[in-house]
Amino acid sequence: MTAAMYCGRGMLRTVVLERGLSGGELLNTEVIEDYPGFEHILGWELAQKFESHAKKFGAEFLQETVTCVRKLDDGSFEADTESGTVYRAPTVILTAGGTPIKLGIPGELKYAGKGVSYCAVCDGAFFKGDTIAVVGGGDAAVEEADFLTRYAERVYLIHRRDELRASKILQKRLFENPKITMIWDTVVEEIEGDAQGLVTNLKVRDVKTQEARDIAATGIFVFIGFRPNTGIVEGHVDHDEMGYMLTDFSMETSVKGLFAAGDVRAQLTRQVTTAAGDGTTAAIAAEKYLKALKDKVGVPMIVRTGGYAV
Ligand code: NAP
Repeated sequence: MTAAMYCGRGMLRTVVLERGLSGGELLNTEVIEDYPGFEHILGWELAQKFESHAKKFGAEFLQETVTCVRKLDDGSFEADTESGTVYRAPTVILTAGGTPIKLGIPGELKYAGKGVSYCAVCDGAFFKGDTIAVVGGGDAAVEEADFLTRYAERVYLIHRRDELRASKILQKRLFENPKITMIWDTVVEEIEGDAQGLVTNLKVRDVKTQEARDIAATGIFVFIGFRPNTGIVEGHVDHDEMGYMLTDFSMETSVKGLFAAGDVRAQLTRQVTTAAGDGTTAAIAAEKYLKALKDKVGVPMIVRTGGYAV
């Protein structure tokens, strides 16, 4: 949405193709406390502000699920969508984020939505007074375990190592929360349920002692990272070993004219602030790219009638 705002400010005809509500991971985050100027703002509220700000500068938002982005022989791009509409643009900024990684253990798919969740804000309220578990050791797991104690009576945070990856300030809050119990060096091996198909039990194993045991829980929230949504791009784009797109300092990928910003690209950290910074750079770089195209071929900046900077 920052990229859209800056493209709009650059007087580029700009469309944001978004499959759901605008906001991405912001919508999965209850409270944002680390966006400068906002000491405390709800995730969805910040998302709405971003959207209306981008619209103010002329960006158009369309609800479309993009299935494929491809570069054409003439150097422009085409985006296919589930609705059948094909969008064409001389340049694309990909900000598709990532999808939560699954544990890949028995019971996880069977009980998805029936006790297995990947979104605390969406599902937390279903577990009022319950005992639940959170899996992971990064910022998301620690933050969401803390958030879930608003509803659950007891939250087990199950981590596969004896040290958390999460930032120190989030860890401090976690350790001060009396409703949270840490379970170190432990992996969940199976999720079990009752006759109604709801989660009741977790089979876990201590990776140091190899001791196996059961944990009674009605819910399990999995926050073990993200897989970048890079699959929609046709053909090869350079990426790191985790699949995150590699970009240069202007956010351009190995495909000329294709820019990437936010969680989809390889970088040290994935915060709202870094995504906004990436979006700014990508939009300004896209504008320069279009200007260079125009100078080269001597035609207006956006060549095709009905074309967009997507
Ligand atoms: P993450 O930082 O990659 O952490 C993933 C955690 O899951 C790690 O602790 C990892 O363990 C564990 N894990 C991975 N695979 C596992 C498996 N198969 N079984 C059990 N545990 C497994 O992911 P994240 O927490 O989703 O965060 C993603 C990015 O978003 C990060 O850059 C983070 O800083 C950012 N973020 C920031 C905030 C915030 O600042 N408020 C909130 C949410 C996310 P190991 O530690 O052993 O590798």
